[in-house]
Amino acid sequence: MNTNTDLNYRAIAEELSGIETSSDRERLTKLSLDYYHFSPVLYEQLQDKRGELAVFPTTEAEVLEIAKVCVREGIPLTVRGAGTGNYGQCIPLEGGIILDISKMNQIVELKPGIARVQPGVKMATFDKQAREIGWELRMAPSTYRTATIGGFIGGGSVGMGSINYGQISDRGNLKRVRLVTMEEQPRVIELQGDEVQNVLHAYGTTGIITELEIPLAPAYPWQEAIVVFDDLMTAARFGQALSDSNGIVKKLVSIHAAPITRYFTALQNYLPSGKPCALVMISQYDFDSFRDLATEHRGEITYSSEAEASKGNNLLEFTWNHTTLHARKIDSNLTYLQTFYFTLERLEKLYREAGDDIMIHLEFLRAGDRAVPAGLQLVRYTTEARLNEIIRHHEAEGAFIANPHVYTIEDGGNKQIDPQKVAFKQQVDPYGLLNPGKMRGFTAVFN
Ligand code: FAD
Repeated sequence: MNTNTDLNYRAIAEELSGIETSSDRERLTKLSLDYYHFSPVLYEQLQDKRGELAVFPTTEAEVLEIAKVCVREGIPLTVRGAGTGNYGQCIPLEGGIILDISKMNQIVELKPGIARVQPGVKMATFDKQAREIGWELRMAPSTYRTATIGGFIGGGSVGMGSINYGQISDRGNLKRVRLVTMEEQPRVIELQGDEVQNVLHAYGTTGIITELEIPLAPAYPWQEAIVVFDDLMTAARFGQALSDSNGIVKKLVSIHAAPITRYFTALQNYLPSGKPCALVMISQYDFDSFRDLATEHRGEITYSSEAEASKGNNLLEFTWNHTTLHARKIDSNLTYLQTFYFTLERLEKLYREAGDDIMIHLEFLRAGDRAVPAGLQLVRYTTEARLNEIIRHHEAEGAFIANPHVYTIEDGGNKQIDPQKVAFKQQVDPYGLLNPGKMRGFTAVFN
């Protein structure tokens, strides 16, 4: 790998004439970073990483051309969608070329139940068109308005819709991908069936995605609502009951402890001080049943409104990791964890034991045959040692933490080296040029 920053990038840009490029320092700084700063640990490690040249291909043929130059010169290449990842996924640790995919943004084919898209298509833009034929994305992150479909496959995992369809890596949620490889002679390959696991949450280390085939969900007219409760565990039990209510079609079940609600500045009219809340999206056809369930749990609906995709899903932007975003706007010492509690009993134990530095935020999602509470709890950051102590305590109690304070695939959610992914990378990126340093299994074996 050539990490020489004196490499003549001007000559490389000239060779790629016909493809938009940029070596403007300010622009490169923006295009080199993502939302890694949600983690004070990653901030220290990654803040000064920069790419040397940004390229903006519009076609697969151009991606191939860029790949060829990178392989010939041994230049690291990091793909970037909208750059909203949280773990420095698209931060180029070794510099080199940033391949910004946002101009490959065509919906190639859209029909009932299935679509083929280029990776740079924005999720909300896609949904608007899909809803016109009665379908929509199965799931999307709370960065729905800005994030790209390719970036969600490469770096995301869950979001609204996960209460029905689980995680993006669940079998069936991605049908097929086209990839450009970084072999001696870069080529286009297609993966389908279980093979697509090689690119899911792989941080762009196993090929450059140029097209995806995604299954869709039937679209409903969604109604958003805020429900407030007297105490957190009642709100959590309501979240579980709603998630388990087979007859109530929903898309989002998000629970917030009372201290968190004060960070939702724009929602203050609906959030009485000191009360935990649920933020939900429910099919309008099932809203009466939802209301009955809320009453049964002594919840008060303080707000409800149509959540038409074209108007933006407003409550969505207070859930998932947008909760952390709002909290950090008011208190930048706050960070977060990602926790599978699996059961309400474990949640309750950890909640009762938690100190003032932890505030519970839950998102319900489908895991196998059940709906489970996953935490994106806010944590008041003091030291890395205290953060690790909190993680160890959760793990000792049987919770699973997908650590958002590390930048390799394995140290985050996977916890172990995936030999199949490493072998696949060896095949498609033998020189380790794609987003180097992010797949620990490859770095350990081949560097
Ligand atoms: P990027 O950040 O640009 O890229 C993500 C990864 O995918 C990078 O490693 C990149 O190299 C790789 N990649 C991008 N395009 C390609 C390609 N064409 N080929 C190969 N690899 C590629 N995530 C969730 O899962 N759920 C959430 O609810 C959620 N909420 C968030 C809320 C906030 C406020 C923030 C800041 C982040 C949140 N995220 C969430 C993380 C992130 O927004 C999502 O994962 C999003 O889908 C990433 O899309 P992107 O276009 O920004 O990808």
